[in-house]
Amino acid sequence: MSDFSGSLQTLQARYGVAIAVPKGKDLVVVNTHGTQAIDFWALNSANLDEFQSMEHTRSRLSRVIPKVGDAIYSNRRAALLTLTEDTSPGVHDTLLCACSPEIYQEHGCAPGHRSCEGNFHEALGAIGKTLGCTPPPFNLFMNVAVGPDSEVIRAAPVSKPGDYVRFQAEMDVVVVMSACPQDVTPINGDDCTPRDIQYAVV
Ligand SMILES: [Zn+2]
Repeated sequence: MSDFSGSLQTLQARYGVAIAVPKGKDLVVVNTHGTQAIDFWALNSANLDEFQSMEHTRSRLSRVIPKVGDAIYSNRRAALLTLTEDTSPGVHDTLLCACSPEIYQEHGCAPGHRSCEGNFHEALGAIGKTLGCTPPPFNLFMNVAVGPDSEVIRAAPVSKPGDYVRFQAEMDVVVVMSACPQDVTPINGDDCTPRDIQYAVV
């Protein structure tokens, strides 16, 4: 495994970024402060209509949360990335949609609150690409559990500062990441404060 510390870039809290990750390269995503949930998407860079599908991933893995050695699959059931390292306790979420302007409206926030859905399209636009939908995110470090009555339980991340996940690209992909702007629920920590993260392509 190659060292990534010299290649780290910062993604500002509440914002998103889209980057190209060539086949065979690694992408490392660092939870710098330990409490930040990161909405994460991978798309086939040759055809953005083939994108990450959490439904296909859960079906293919017969597992709700991917583990080290598992791939993230597309809506064409092809492997986009493989999760090759995870220094966190492995608590991530594949169940919930990206936060969106409508969610913040439900929360009673003022119009214009940033969202992971908005970040996804803004980040794609920054590299000259568009997509007509918002695919289901892989919510890194997001702590979502299913309770005994099938209820969804949102809690603060259990990761610690500096925890990271590493993916290897199985095809040329575009990856979009959003440092989730959620500041109403404790999904970004009990103090409800979004924070910066770091990433590296190595
Ligand atoms: Zn979000």
